[in-house]
Amino acid sequence: MSDAATEMPHADPADETLMQVDDLKVHFPVTEGLLNRQVGSIKAVDGVSFSLRRGETFSLVGESGCGKSTTALAALRMQPVTAGRILFEGVDITHYSQAQMRPIRRRMQMVYQDPFGSLNPRMRVRDIIGEPLVVHGLAGDKVKYKARVRELMALVGLLPDMADRYPHEFSGGQRQRIGIARSLALDPSLLICDEPVSALDVSIQAQVVNLMMDLQEQLGLTYLFIAHDLSVVRHISNRVAVMYLGRIVEIADRDPLFDTPRHPYTEALLAAVPVANPVIEASRPQQIVTGEVPSVRNPPSGCHFHPRCPKVMPECKTETPALRPRDDGRLIACHLYD
Ligand code: SF4
Repeated sequence: MSDAATEMPHADPADETLMQVDDLKVHFPVTEGLLNRQVGSIKAVDGVSFSLRRGETFSLVGESGCGKSTTALAALRMQPVTAGRILFEGVDITHYSQAQMRPIRRRMQMVYQDPFGSLNPRMRVRDIIGEPLVVHGLAGDKVKYKARVRELMALVGLLPDMADRYPHEFSGGQRQRIGIARSLALDPSLLICDEPVSALDVSIQAQVVNLMMDLQEQLGLTYLFIAHDLSVVRHISNRVAVMYLGRIVEIADRDPLFDTPRHPYTEALLAAVPVANPVIEASRPQQIVTGEVPSVRNPPSGCHFHPRCPKVMPECKTETPALRPRDDGRLIACHLYD
């Protein structure tokens, strides 16, 4: 193994930016015929840029198929990148080999959506949680290993004495806690949370979200959070990026984004979420968007949102709006603000 693969990259704690993603593209070839001739490409992620500040929760939201999960997987280098640049802790990892990525992976871990499917039913909880330590050669002796697993279980609110049990002996919420404990085993700085509570009962969701917020504070974690449930996003996020057909259309701090969305798609997305308070609900602007989400295989020209946008202008059909900083500090990709 090369030196680059064994050395941990230098992380400067004074550097506020943990990850920087520039103009990221993930395109999948569309092939045809016996010879698999490439006849086009699906632009699942098409020029996405964002940065993650240390200790924050940055959420990616948007309708299913908008490219949120592909963006996150590509940022983790778990998905081939077509173009763009990814910096993690100041190091350009865009073209790192799998061997070079190995020590980096310790610092960036995934929390999966499905606490049922992501845990091996034949493994004891101790070995599920401790497996990353073994894989990375950090398990130490038996005593150390057991102590670390007990520590991780206690950290996520599980009784350490349950370490010899199997996943089916736990509830859905407990299984997600097991998944979180496993993701913390290597002491990461970044957790990519892909719909981490959407498979759980609503009553359990709040407990898991609150646990994640506590752990963030305690361990100084940064979260890249992917969710379609906007109430969960509002609860946990510091900043939010809204995606539509492979592009980010708006990035803003949480409260301004939810209180005064500015991109027409953000307005539409939020308008679709009912508000419990009838007074607020009645006073909200109703930005109803018509039409189906177009296929990412054949997205509309110019601004991808133009066929559904109630504020569409002639240039929207031909010119792609750039994601630019606006007067209030947020980033918006829309000709209305050019
Ligand atoms: Fe609507 Fe045009 Fe803005 Fe796109 S660029 S969101 S079509 S106004």
